[in-house]
Amino acid sequence: MKNVKIRDVKAILTQPPRGGRFTVVKIETTEPGLYGLGDASYRTRPLAVKSAIVDYLRPFLIGKDVANIEDIWQSAYVSSYWRNGPVLNNALGGVDEALWDIKGKMAGMPVYDLLGGKAREAAALYAHASGGSLQETEDKAFALLERGFHYIRLQTATPGFATYGSSSGGDRDLNDGPKWIATNVDAADQEHAWAQQAGIFEPMPYMRSAIEMMAHMRNKMGWKVEFLHDAHERLPAIQAVQFAKEMEPFKLFFLEDLFTPGQVDWFKRVREQCSTPLSMGEIINNPLEIVPLVDQRLIDFIRLRVAHIGGITPARKYAAHGEMYGVRTAFQGPGNISPVGVAAHLHLDLAISNFGIQESSEHHESLAEIFPGMPEVHDGYMWANDKPGLGVDIDEEAAMKMPHDPTPSSGAFDNVRRADGTVVTP
Ligand code: MG
Repeated sequence: MKNVKIRDVKAILTQPPRGGRFTVVKIETTEPGLYGLGDASYRTRPLAVKSAIVDYLRPFLIGKDVANIEDIWQSAYVSSYWRNGPVLNNALGGVDEALWDIKGKMAGMPVYDLLGGKAREAAALYAHASGGSLQETEDKAFALLERGFHYIRLQTATPGFATYGSSSGGDRDLNDGPKWIATNVDAADQEHAWAQQAGIFEPMPYMRSAIEMMAHMRNKMGWKVEFLHDAHERLPAIQAVQFAKEMEPFKLFFLEDLFTPGQVDWFKRVREQCSTPLSMGEIINNPLEIVPLVDQRLIDFIRLRVAHIGGITPARKYAAHGEMYGVRTAFQGPGNISPVGVAAHLHLDLAISNFGIQESSEHHESLAEIFPGMPEVHDGYMWANDKPGLGVDIDEEAAMKMPHDPTPSSGAFDNVRRADGTVVTP
């Protein structure tokens, strides 16, 4: 099949009842019935991404030969002159994933085969155990273990304070009970949980409760399970160094987002003082932000979000760069990435040699009606099908009947603040 051109580019904004705020790119071609899908889900600014796709990339792309993914990526990347950023990258990332989907369909091969073939049968997942109390965190962790997960991210509420990954909250009534859920099964609940995280955050109570949680969980679960924790870039830098040192005895699989992207030089201080494995990357979208972290070996896991850094084309280059430096991947995979985006992550996970772990995007089973072929999760692993391309389709008509929730609270992070009113990163 030669000389297949891009005929149209669409942005499908959909929010199924038990899903997240998804944005899916559909590229239609001059070949009847041949199209590709990609993910451009940016839950807090979806209309800006839609405009970047429909108003700017669409006219640029129509008529281009779908065979030339690298050329299309490079030319589209600089077509705005000013580049990177979450809006432009997600738009381009969605287009890029759709082009890989098309190439796979034209070749009759899954994308993981185009990328070199399977380096493993399935991608090991980590799932979230997040509780409003130590007991709840423990119960959720054991429930995950029962289901076959051996990598578990542990978060627990700091009594009386807002805590990332768990609903409690400084100025809220703790008797309301926890609303956060243990896994990504229901992204709609996650959206709800995000909105509850506003409140007062103070570093010291958080650090004490997280260390106490880790000691408790090691005591309860022993050493046959890998533990992870996300600090979510909230700590003042020198306290973050202390925190990483205090976590060392618990032998985490990784400690995530210890610093903001503006404070990454502090990773050097952590490296000088402890061997707690570190991951970073979900809010990074510029090559200059990730490359030095890898080639100075300041982190152990590249936690990029594939569409957010521009799609499969750049993601596989970042992965290859990491391989040269002994740094593994841990692509970000929360429930607010569509099943198409999850598939893009999975195909990379399967094909790259330095795969580390995949965050579980265990979408609710009802989403399979809208996204037939979405990756399956069982026994703690994610499995791809062997259909050509990314292997996921979309029922466009059904998706369009479930538009995004337009209320502002569903589209933004509520502010978390220190006790004196100072804003803290989300
Ligand atoms: Mg995170």
